[in-house]
Amino acid sequence: MGATGCGKSKLSVDLATSCGVEAEIINSDKMQVYKGLDIATNKITIPERKGVRHHLLGDLDPADGELTAAEFRDAAGAAVSDIASRGKLPVVVGGSNSFIYSLLVDRFHPGSDVFYGSGPGDRVSPQLRYDCCFLWIDVAFPVLCDYLCRRVDEMVETGMMEEMAEFYSSESWAGRVGLLKTIGVPELEWYYKMGNFESNKNNRKMIVNGGDEEGGGGWDTVRRSVYEDAVRKIKENTCRLAERQVGKIVRLKSGGWDLHRVDATDVFRERLRAADEAAAEAAAEEEEMEVVMAAAAECGSGGARRKSRKKRRRQWAEVWEKEVMDPSVKIVKRFLEE
Ligand code: ATP
Repeated sequence: MGATGCGKSKLSVDLATSCGVEAEIINSDKMQVYKGLDIATNKITIPERKGVRHHLLGDLDPADGELTAAEFRDAAGAAVSDIASRGKLPVVVGGSNSFIYSLLVDRFHPGSDVFYGSGPGDRVSPQLRYDCCFLWIDVAFPVLCDYLCRRVDEMVETGMMEEMAEFYSSESWAGRVGLLKTIGVPELEWYYKMGNFESNKNNRKMIVNGGDEEGGGGWDTVRRSVYEDAVRKIKENTCRLAERQVGKIVRLKSGGWDLHRVDATDVFRERLRAADEAAAEAAAEEEEMEVVMAAAAECGSGGARRKSRKKRRRQWAEVWEKEVMDPSVKIVKRFLEE
């Protein structure tokens, strides 16, 4: 368990491959259950899965409607039984705490609201239907938020905009209801709609000049500002999601769920530091490239940079091992031996 971006998927695969038992993973992120928008929903990639089988990850057609918590309970419950019947360990991973709650609680009441409700039926039940070991990866909020904002920039760099353009170019996008609430979809709707208007000169004039001037040369400026606004909102909404997710986890903990909290803040500090260093180096590299006679020296310093990139990756991987992986393995092994 944990907020978006905290490293849950990585930890689940690392645990599945190093706890001495065969394990399979069940996704409990309500946006990742659907096919599509792999970058925007931040689905774990095939190489990152390291051969570990994943269930309910990208399996559902978003046009079939939103999966309810009760439906998730049935589908994920069936996956738990299937995995256990083959003598393997089910590992549930994902940020949708309402799904995790519905799956694990002994008696699930679809009408209750354990996270926001205050009625007598809305209390978190500590009675579970399985013997569970809970790991909660926690990251200090300002550090996580800083990381999440950079992750949005990275998503943009690695193709989120192309993915969204494809989503919006389909005539049936509005029918893919399961994915419509994915962060990025509502925020970018106007931007892509503007794209569709681009060839229409009248619309162009209307939007750029309020409809009362000739021209349209400012179109790019307007599109850019709509785009920048959308990216800013994506960052804001991602941080809000993280905050809400942690609030729900805290609520489960106060309601009697025995969650083991693992603090990953130092890992993220290290990752951010490494990213800052890399950015500073890239800027220096650009400056260096402008120096005409630097060809020979460039070869030498390029080698040094490659080395320091590797070193940086190793540094945060070491902190991950020490602060997150080792304590998590201990907790899981103790649980399996009980
Ligand atoms: P709620 O009670 O608000 O529905 P929940 O615990 O059931 O909360 P969350 O997983 O917290 O569900 O998701 C809430 C919202 O956050 C989603 O509707 C969606 O807008 C956004 N969201 C959640 N997961 C992702 C994701 N992987 N990628 C993009 N957006 C997401």
